[in-house]
Amino acid sequence: MSDTIEKLVIIGSGPAGHTAAIYAARANLSPLMFEGFLAGGVAAGGQLTTTTEVENYPGFPKGVDGPQLMDLFREQSLRFETRIHTETVEKLDLSQIPFQVVSSGRKVLTKSLIIATGATAKRLSIPGEEQFWQQGISACAVCDGALPIFRNKTLVVIGGGDTAVEEATHLTKFGTKVVVVHRRNSLRASKIMQKRLLSHPKIEMQWDSVVEEALGNEGLTGVRIRNVKTHESKILAAEGLFYAIGHIPNTSFLDGQLKLDETGYIVTKPGTTQTSVNGVFAAGDVQDKVWRQAVTAAGTGCMASLEAERYLAE
Ligand code: FAD
Ligand code: NDP
Repeated sequence: MSDTIEKLVIIGSGPAGHTAAIYAARANLSPLMFEGFLAGGVAAGGQLTTTTEVENYPGFPKGVDGPQLMDLFREQSLRFETRIHTETVEKLDLSQIPFQVVSSGRKVLTKSLIIATGATAKRLSIPGEEQFWQQGISACAVCDGALPIFRNKTLVVIGGGDTAVEEATHLTKFGTKVVVVHRRNSLRASKIMQKRLLSHPKIEMQWDSVVEEALGNEGLTGVRIRNVKTHESKILAAEGLFYAIGHIPNTSFLDGQLKLDETGYIVTKPGTTQTSVNGVFAAGDVQDKVWRQAVTAAGTGCMASLEAERYLAE
């Protein structure tokens, strides 16, 4: 382990981590970033490296390719001399300052820490999923719903939580019909959102049902669903399939050292990025299960950096 004590270490390399790095580097904090090596199954650069066109990130009126956008974020971090290790952080010791960060390749000490490790959308691993992923299947209706392939088509949403309800309602703007497939006969979503969903003329429910296969040739043409009570299977014609079955925040490496909510997200003090440990800040999807957008992740990355700067000055 090196004797050097870093001012700020950033863990994670999505929009939150890189925005934090850009602000910290320009504030002369000389940040050190661990960008991860296929951490959580995602390449360095985060979730946007798994998509094609990003149409809602401001500053790109014609849209921008997801991996290209993340290359630009990285280039901007490097321009201000962020040091980047392509390693995954495996362990932390937050019991004393300086904090200890242990990656696959080294141990470092730091006075402050920003955790921006994101979250991973849950998948089902059904036949056809790999073939049509991002070519008819998506885990983000807000991101992809407006794409031409989904316009005036029948769209299927899987899930019964607030995300499923919000995404299904959002998709009614683009599709001719939205079918929500839910594995039980009651929704988990809040009552007001349920009412909105169930009274919508474009939305149809398939209760007690699971999607077992995504079907198609060049593009998605349908899904095979099974009723879990009657065991009857049928094919629903559809050109879009949206997963809204939850996300898994990348927090297992924290090993109980920060306060997490019941679903594993880092708890931050409202209106700030402060975690339960002084000097440790959290930004992006790892602490946000509601908005989950690149621009909101970048926004909290900025906040975390400014808060770390203030903390170090004190
Ligand atoms: P992430 O992007 O999740 O990045 C976190 C990074 O940290 C990852 O690279 C991960 O490998 C790394 N990491 C994890 N654990 C460790 C560790 N222990 N050590 C080191 N590194 C680690 N949003 C939009 O605004 N517009 C869109 O069009 C859009 N499209 C999307 C399409 C898809 C398919 C998906 C899945 C998401 C999309 N989103 C979109 C959502 C957006 O990608 C996320 O909200 C955003 O990327 C979150 O940024 P983040 O920085 O919090 O984390
Ligand atoms: P949730 O965990 O609340 O819901 C996931 C849904 O997917 C559940 O209905 C679950 O079924 C279903 N599901 C999970 N795994 C599978 C599977 N393998 N096969 C089929 N179905 C599956 O996740 P959300 O993303 O909806 O919400 C996460 C949190 O964020 C919640 O606290 C929610 O309230 C909050 N949120 C709030 C919003 C708002 O207030 N506007 C918007 C979005 C999210 P089952 O019900 O049977 O478990």
